[in-house]
Amino acid sequence: IVEARDLTIRLGGKTILNKVNISIRCNTISVIMGPSGSGKSTLLRVFNRLIELNPEAEVSGEITIMGRDIYEWNPYELRRHVVLVQQEPTPFPNLSIFENIALPARLNKVARSREELEKLVRWSLEKVMLWDEVKDRLWKPPTSLSGGQKQRLCIARALALRPNILLLDEPTANIDPVNTLKIEESLKELKNDITMILVTHMPHQAARIGDYVYVLYNGGIVEEGPVNDVFIHPRHEVTIKLLERVF
Ligand code: ATP
Ligand code: MG
Repeated sequence: IVEARDLTIRLGGKTILNKVNISIRCNTISVIMGPSGSGKSTLLRVFNRLIELNPEAEVSGEITIMGRDIYEWNPYELRRHVVLVQQEPTPFPNLSIFENIALPARLNKVARSREELEKLVRWSLEKVMLWDEVKDRLWKPPTSLSGGQKQRLCIARALALRPNILLLDEPTANIDPVNTLKIEESLKELKNDITMILVTHMPHQAARIGDYVYVLYNGGIVEEGPVNDVFIHPRHEVTIKLLERVF
């Protein structure tokens, strides 16, 4: 559903990714791991064409999304199907918690009537374990939420869009372990509807919900394979380092 061939990205004259090949299958959770600065967030930003907003970025290679060359897509249309949950939670500060979810969903034509929207907002907040915490302040702005609550709101906003492809950049980095486990369950449940690419520094998370893993290092993918194979028999020293403190 997402294919990249010889993908090379340069930012400010520096090569971040060098001839990367990647092939993401439908209805899977693919995990991207790698040390800080290895280009994981940059890779996600290519897939919904956010990278083009950076005037310093030079991208070459071939990318196909849902069978269509990425540059044949209208970028706005593409971003309805390929939704990114950014590493830094960015709720809309001037919209209420309810409208943070409802407005993009309405623009994306996921729900039309008031009733459908209310259902969708509740559904998505429940998926990230936030409903009980915010149901009494849905009309307040999200500025008073904690970091982890904002992060969960951003995941809920993305889920409510019912995208075909969901890009998750360290989505549970600010979230406590109990809620993290529940969110992982929700993501796993949604796998049949939404193909996910998940960036995480948590090997346990990758092991719990990942199907396939890619290890990024030094501009390239140094190791890839089914999570069960790679985690049991890691071959590359970078993978071994990423796993050694845990297993
Ligand atoms: P982390 O785990 O810390 O989130 P990451 O793997 O997501 O790291 P990226 O954010 O993709 O890493 O950054 C990859 C590299 O690109 C870093 O070395 C970063 O400094 C560099 N970089 C990002 N944006 C620019 C830019 N506009 N100009 C030059 N270099 C940049
Ligand atoms: Mg990052």
